[in-house]
Amino acid sequence: MNIDLSGKNALVTASTAGIGWSIAAGLAASGANVILNGRKPEVVQAAVEKLRRELHGANVEGVAADLSTAKGVQGVIDAVPSLDILVNNAGIFGPEPFFDVDDATWERYFQTNVMSGVRLSRYYMQGMLQRNWGRVVFISSESGLNIPADMIHYGVSKTAQIALANGLAKLAAGSGVTVNSVLPGPTLSDGFREMVREQHEREGTSYEEIGNDFVRKERATSIIQRISSTEEIANMVVYVCSPQASATTGVALRVDGGVVNTW
Ligand code: NAD
Repeated sequence: MNIDLSGKNALVTASTAGIGWSIAAGLAASGANVILNGRKPEVVQAAVEKLRRELHGANVEGVAADLSTAKGVQGVIDAVPSLDILVNNAGIFGPEPFFDVDDATWERYFQTNVMSGVRLSRYYMQGMLQRNWGRVVFISSESGLNIPADMIHYGVSKTAQIALANGLAKLAAGSGVTVNSVLPGPTLSDGFREMVREQHEREGTSYEEIGNDFVRKERATSIIQRISSTEEIANMVVYVCSPQASATTGVALRVDGGVVNTW
């Protein structure tokens, strides 16, 4: 299968690092015009230049905006009037005991993980429906099905994304617009490295070893018994954004190495 996204305009939110970066690189390698996003203008510019260097001739631009606020999302909409592909990847995570998670934290998780995608989809899907072609992907998590007891606030926000994607897919019924969620398992991203940085510095263990150990202890049902790479997640996202994936919509596609213990 040869995936050709030439001429398609794609935005990947939160893509200067981590899973978002690999998705952006994968879409650009398939010919899409890619818009990177992060919070700091200098970091976004550096990422744009890096991707242009790595993929000679790739059409890459950037927009700096904090997507945890309505104002930040509006900044993106003002800068990028129309899209064919929207990947809602922005999301925060981290363990915190349920009894210590206050309203402000719940609100922050919902604004960043859920409302960013609500706001962007509300605007960009209208143009996609008018043109009768589009791809919207939410990067949810296996934690949206398999809610971790130590990250309930996170898991609930990821469940909301799966529900949102399903509803939006139905809204686009009969059109050439598909909406799906992709559910990674533990993935060796910059965010994951940050989450375990103290342990890495304290024990001198590599991030990969810590990641594999985390999977075996905390996600013991994993069939692959190791942490995933960001590229493994990106491959699924690039496929689901492709013209070939036209009959896949409204579903939660797992790239979790088998963590969720159902068929
Ligand atoms: P990450 O922390 O490595 O991502 C870093 C990127 O996020 C940077 O570009 C940073 O600028 C950007 N970012 C953070 N907050 C932002 C905001 N408010 N506005 C704009 N950009 C922002 O993250 P990751 O681990 O690659 O995770 C990406 C997505 O995948 C998240 O939605 C996460 O919930 C999901 N996910 C991650 C894992 C994992 O193990 N890493 C597993 C399942 C799901």
